[in-house]
Amino acid sequence: MVLADLGRRINGAFAQLSRVPVIDDKALDALLKEVASALLESDVNVKLVANLRSKVKAKVKAAIESGADKGKDINRKNIIQKAIFDELVLLVDPGVEPYKPKKNHPNVIMAVGLQGNGKTTTCTKLAVYWQKRGLKSCIVCADTFRAGAFDQTRQSATKAKIPYFGSYTETDPVSIAAQGVMKFKKEKFEVIIVDTSGRHKQESELFQEMVQIGEAVKPDMTVLVLDASIGQAAEAQAKAFKESADFGAIIVTKMDGHAKGGGAISAVAATKTPIIFLGVGEHLYDLDKFSPEPFISKLLGMGDIQGFMDHMQSITLANPEKQKEMQKKLGEGKLSIRDWKEQISNVMSMGPLSKIASMIPGLPQGMVEGSDEETSSRMKRMMIICDSMTETELDSDGSPFIVYDAKDKNKPVGVNMKALLRVAKGSGCHVREVEEVLCQYRMMSNMAKTVGGKNGFMQNLQKMQ
Ligand code: GDP
Repeated sequence: MVLADLGRRINGAFAQLSRVPVIDDKALDALLKEVASALLESDVNVKLVANLRSKVKAKVKAAIESGADKGKDINRKNIIQKAIFDELVLLVDPGVEPYKPKKNHPNVIMAVGLQGNGKTTTCTKLAVYWQKRGLKSCIVCADTFRAGAFDQTRQSATKAKIPYFGSYTETDPVSIAAQGVMKFKKEKFEVIIVDTSGRHKQESELFQEMVQIGEAVKPDMTVLVLDASIGQAAEAQAKAFKESADFGAIIVTKMDGHAKGGGAISAVAATKTPIIFLGVGEHLYDLDKFSPEPFISKLLGMGDIQGFMDHMQSITLANPEKQKEMQKKLGEGKLSIRDWKEQISNVMSMGPLSKIASMIPGLPQGMVEGSDEETSSRMKRMMIICDSMTETELDSDGSPFIVYDAKDKNKPVGVNMKALLRVAKGSGCHVREVEEVLCQYRMMSNMAKTVGGKNGFMQNLQKMQ
């Protein structure tokens, strides 16, 4: 069962609980049965599921016996939901903090894993992720086993504008890794990702090579890349790798399509190694930061404010001065068309819009209507329209497009058709579309004014959780 379905089923079970006349043992059992069967269908280990069931039951029983429900069904329902939420978090929480790359330090990250697990793709995604967060990132391709590995790195790194190092002629992966890391260290790179060879199965040569590369480049963190489709078998694979390369973190890829994703995550958590990211697609931005609580929260449709803040922070880190200025303007409700346009282009550069929408708590999932392609092309048209405006119009609050009363400068009496027509002509759009863009800008600007206030837009957004 793919994760979205798992979340929907658990939510459905919660909704069912709200409909039962009395919340008693029978109702709790029925809910737990449904949650357990959903987890089992996601390939979560039977023992882990049984453990979750009995722990929830014990917690709920203890809470009711202590009188925490004050004899009311509504309180009992909340206790049950909270107990399930907490146990689901524990199910995916290894309880270990991963290494965090530091600024002004050459953080060497070595990626290991079997061939086809998505290692090379993930290396580029990681470099882009950290680069966006203000860390100068690069990739060293030390995969000499697979023909075409260096070409793949070259292509994806070039597309992502990430510097890379590799060789078509050198056959010794240890030597390439050492050369690449030395070169990038000299050039003051802050995240140096070393992509190593994979094999179809765990072979002693692969492990030996990993150990040798590890000795040569002395990684700050070794990351094991695992494919979600193996489900709970992830535990055995992780253990096999751990015996040779002592990795500090795991990335589970292909979470977008695989029915066994839940099983893979919970199995990995059982190995007490932190999962740091989930690969959720083939594109550069299809990499979700993983933290147990926000993950479960998002799974159950409760939003992921931490993920959203992380997205926003990456914009801040890439250009701190600009973003500070923007936050000030947002807080004061002084957003010009130019500022709004910049915000949209920032959001567009962050990846699929539906993903961003799903992180905002309380936001209807259907708000960003249509596919990501449709939304993105709608946004691009908005940008083209803005680009056809004059500098004065861009820096304004939209007033040049309005005609005001000759005596009362605050009283609008109509639209400035001449300006609207000029922008429409310049952007190859209809006047109606230009008006729509201005209308959307006004909505956002008004929202910033309302939500803004003295604490600022972002702080208020956090409070909305
Ligand atoms: P490697 O052999 O481990 O380096 O694997 P690759 O990076 O070449 O990836 C193997 C295939 O998996 C490629 O077709 C990738 O596009 C695909 N892939 C990697 N990560 C993901 C992911 O998170 N989701 C999906 N759907 N495909 C992925």
